[in-house]
Amino acid sequence: AAADLGLRWKPGFRALGPAFLTELRPTPLPDPPYWVGYSEAAARLLGLPADWRQSEGTLAALTGNLPVAGTQPFATVYSGHQFGVWAGQLGDGRAIMLGETEGGLEVQLKGAGRTPYSRGADGRAVLRSSIREFLCSEAMHGLGIPTTRALCVTGSDARVYREMPETAAVVTRVAPSFIRFGHFEHFSANQREAELRALADYVIDRYYPGCRATERFNGNAYAAFLEAVSERTAALLAQWQAVGFCHGVMNTDNMSILGLTIDYGPFQFLDGFDPRHICNHSDTSGRYAFNQQPNVAYWNLFCLAQALLPLIGDQEIAVAALESYKTVFPREFESRMRAKLGLAEPAEGDRALIEGVLKLMAAEKVDYTIFWRRLSQHMAGGNAEPVRDLFLDRAGFDAWLLSFSERHAQAPRAQAADLMLRSNPKYVLRNHLGQQAIEAASQKDFSAVATLLALLETPFEEHPGADAYAGFPPDWASTIEISCSS
Ligand code: AMP
Ligand code: MG
Ligand code: MG
Repeated sequence: AAADLGLRWKPGFRALGPAFLTELRPTPLPDPPYWVGYSEAAARLLGLPADWRQSEGTLAALTGNLPVAGTQPFATVYSGHQFGVWAGQLGDGRAIMLGETEGGLEVQLKGAGRTPYSRGADGRAVLRSSIREFLCSEAMHGLGIPTTRALCVTGSDARVYREMPETAAVVTRVAPSFIRFGHFEHFSANQREAELRALADYVIDRYYPGCRATERFNGNAYAAFLEAVSERTAALLAQWQAVGFCHGVMNTDNMSILGLTIDYGPFQFLDGFDPRHICNHSDTSGRYAFNQQPNVAYWNLFCLAQALLPLIGDQEIAVAALESYKTVFPREFESRMRAKLGLAEPAEGDRALIEGVLKLMAAEKVDYTIFWRRLSQHMAGGNAEPVRDLFLDRAGFDAWLLSFSERHAQAPRAQAADLMLRSNPKYVLRNHLGQQAIEAASQKDFSAVATLLALLETPFEEHPGADAYAGFPPDWASTIEISCSS
């Protein structure tokens, strides 16, 4: 028996052949599955029929308990640098790819059982981290930030052991490709140049076709590819930094070759603005602290450059292909921050305006999301008190606000307010909000997951009545410890 999801499948990544993957089936969970959360937006993206959740076998199939008609599932091999150290072979240890749809989207079941790349771990994912990944994938999309998507989370009472016994869940993830920097590092480190080339050619032809026709780097398509990845990564990091998103585990195996946010683990949206914030409880050295992320991304791109060197053929060209990161990141970051300030056009002094307010916020760990939303509301006609109230240093803030108002003196405030309300979300997936949804879900109340999802899908809208989800974090929020354990 097999479930027919109503999708048509094509070979996609599987056509690369056995050097890149192992065909296998998900391992069924022993206890019956139930729906924990689902995204109709992701379902539409995939082209699933309207009644997809009702159709026979879908729940079982998306938990790995029943095959999906037309698919030949597999797990892929990759390697990577973890916390700055070469970790050797890793691979999809618990994510099993169902395949690629005719529409060009890969579908993965994360937590669907052991694979040859599980390295002694159980191939499972726990409910709490699955809910976090599901919600954050859809939240990032709602924020306009490139990300892998999530169709659903299904749960089961089957036990999974971490620090304590927990229950299992499976996230159905969707993306044009789940290829990571680590896929390239894997074949390069093992001196398998033919496979390295086949992989690069596949990715270029599928996702970066412009690199074939380029005149940059004397028509070196691999260098153009590295440059394109650097630019996408720079643009992604600019969005993370602007929204206050801390990824937590920026290992090279968690870096998407498409510049998507991928592998949601101990991530966090900043509460109070602390540039040195470390969201991953396992990150004792602060390697992946919030303000380190742009540099780490560059370091990771350097690893990718090294991996691609046999194809690029010239160290100097490879280094030159990375250069654009250093211009694209600041340019994109400034442009995102300018939008948050309601400034459609650049002007001299913007940099100082941006740095000025970040410095004030950092000094008092002012709530990042609330500050920007209140400033937007002030621009929209509300008085300045709610923003001023966020600062003890009134004089410092008033001086900044004056220069901000002067900068806006020439332009219509309504237009600026509109830009700000579209650039400063009211709702982000704060740790405590995720935690509350997780606690309810572990008591089989899945309504909070659905409520949060609805807010996070359109985070720039007001959603009257939902203000409790847009408030300051409770005191206990700072005691939440989220580690790599998932
Ligand atoms: P991560 O830190 O989540 O990016 O995972 C690093 C590596 O460990 C990847 O190869 C994962 O597939 C693998 N991994 C993480 N958790 C598990 C698990 N419970 N079972 C099998 N493999 C896992
Ligand atoms: Mg990972
Ligand atoms: Mg992970």
